[in-house]
Amino acid sequence: MRLKDTGLTEQDIKNKVKKYMIETYDRFDFVAETAKDMYMYGTDGTAYLDFYAGIAVNSTGNCNKRVVDAVRDQCKDLMQTFNYPYSIPQALLAEKICTTIGMDKVFFENSGAEANEAMIKMARKFGVEKYGPHKYNIVTARNSFHGRTFGAMSATGQPDNACQIGFGEMTPGFSYAEYNNLASFREAVNDHTIAVMIEPVQGEGGVHPATQEFMHGLKKLCDEKGLLLLLDEVQTGWCRTGSVMSYMNYGIKPDIVSMAKALGGGMPVGAICAKAKVAKAFTKGSHGSTFGGHPVCCAAALAEINELLDRHCAENAKKMGDYFSGLLETLPHVREVRHQGLFVGVEFEDGVRGEDVKHECFERKLLITAIGSSIIRMVPPLIVTEEECDKAFGIIYDAVMALTGQEVQAS
Ligand SMILES: *Cc1c(COP(=O)(O)O)cnc(C)c1O
Repeated sequence: MRLKDTGLTEQDIKNKVKKYMIETYDRFDFVAETAKDMYMYGTDGTAYLDFYAGIAVNSTGNCNKRVVDAVRDQCKDLMQTFNYPYSIPQALLAEKICTTIGMDKVFFENSGAEANEAMIKMARKFGVEKYGPHKYNIVTARNSFHGRTFGAMSATGQPDNACQIGFGEMTPGFSYAEYNNLASFREAVNDHTIAVMIEPVQGEGGVHPATQEFMHGLKKLCDEKGLLLLLDEVQTGWCRTGSVMSYMNYGIKPDIVSMAKALGGGMPVGAICAKAKVAKAFTKGSHGSTFGGHPVCCAAALAEINELLDRHCAENAKKMGDYFSGLLETLPHVREVRHQGLFVGVEFEDGVRGEDVKHECFERKLLITAIGSSIIRMVPPLIVTEEECDKAFGIIYDAVMALTGQEVQAS
């Protein structure tokens, strides 16, 4: 929808949102009307360089033509079916996902949280059926983020975070250990444990990649104790980290992996992929979803995956991730730059606040996100070029300089 066709002003739109919506979001102060490739556009045509991509979603660029065409075509043929008939986009997407990432089976959902729910449910059912009613505990990491439904929330190891405060008791069946600390995970495992679940890069937790030693150690621990390794690749999946899936950066394979964000190229699709022996836990009636596997979303995801692979987005993510991080290292007041591919975080020191940097960047027409008190996160589309990285870096540099009262360079 375009503003000019509504007869309303930009302020009218903001007012309606404030009046009628339950607002839990910290919004950028502009109305996004259109978007293309690396840019989003306000109603007055202002262009914003997009380094958050709908939070690691629009990986082949905003409104990618191939994805848009797939959506448009599929809308004309068949929209919602529930999962009673077979559908063509579902079949082709299932094959594409499994063969591309080397997993046996897929189950479709609508979001990351839902995919994690499915992953948790599958692991628990596998444990209870194979070992008995006590065997459903999952060890997750402190400072993790797995989503906002009750199971995913309970898996999230952040008791002091607003995402958990005030909701009463969390779902039982989870224990928590320290990320990147194998001894802590080893200690948290007991007779009730069926699985270990982590993000290969903790995103909301501040962009902390798992170390090689930690990931390999976890895999070994799981093999040793007969536990399932569950990876939440909702944010890391589909080329973001320099490989199609982040687990490929470690040369390991999980028993179940969840995915969502980038999978649909901007359409809501989530999924889990599992090894055949684990996937067997889901039988007729044990799980389901009205919209999961929606033909339009599946057609979009299939187009997105083909586009990601044809345009070598994983390779570009690796190259640009290294390049951009190298630039960011030279920012003033930086404590640490952490990244895996184009999943990039900068932690500041000297009291520089992530929220303030984000705001100053917005004023300069660059969109990024802030996490925690002193961290900014950049997850641009994976088609980003050196020139766009240079431009974003220049803006972030000016933003930090403006905040710390230092001379602002012309850019
Ligand atoms: C975003 C995210 C989720 C939640 O996904 P939704 O689609 O918002 O439900 C879960 N896990 C991780 C690692 C995420 O980044």
